[in-house]
Amino acid sequence: MSLEQHYSAILSQLGEDVTREGLVDTPKRAAKAMQYLCRGYQQTLDEIVNGALFSSDNSEMVLVKDIELYSLCEHHLLPFIGKAHVAYIPNGKVLGLSKVARIVDMYARRLQIQENMSRQIAEAVQQVTGALGVAVVIEAKHMCMMMRGVEKQNSSMVTSVMLGEFRDNAATRSEFLSLIR
Ligand SMILES: [Zn+2]
Repeated sequence: MSLEQHYSAILSQLGEDVTREGLVDTPKRAAKAMQYLCRGYQQTLDEIVNGALFSSDNSEMVLVKDIELYSLCEHHLLPFIGKAHVAYIPNGKVLGLSKVARIVDMYARRLQIQENMSRQIAEAVQQVTGALGVAVVIEAKHMCMMMRGVEKQNSSMVTSVMLGEFRDNAATRSEFLSLIR
């Protein structure tokens, strides 16, 4: 069965009349939307970075703040939406400006839990740049908490992963944390 046919079956199971006008093309649209929201499965780190790695003797922290993030939780297939802050300390190489955001996107466009996604992003940046340290903080609101379950509208979840210098050096870590505050 195609994704489209599965969506049609889901709508029937929910009690809908899948032949009514408003729903005629819904299974097709839903399938397309879901494929878009999960397109990260079709991408690889190599293809995303595409050689945009440049020599640099800068050894100061590089920080990309407030990267918008849209993902789906793997437990309920409901969206979680937020921001990622990613920093690294170069060790001879820096990444092209837009690449950090594209790495975040590649992992966000998969079924995720926020903790794992934070770690995957940090490890990817580490792997690509060979940085002396990588820090990732993600703040997000989860529709599975807001629309169902405990229905808490204002709680957001914060996860962080610190690698290398950010883990071992308290001053580096607190510089990062004060820059994203
Ligand atoms: Zn969930």
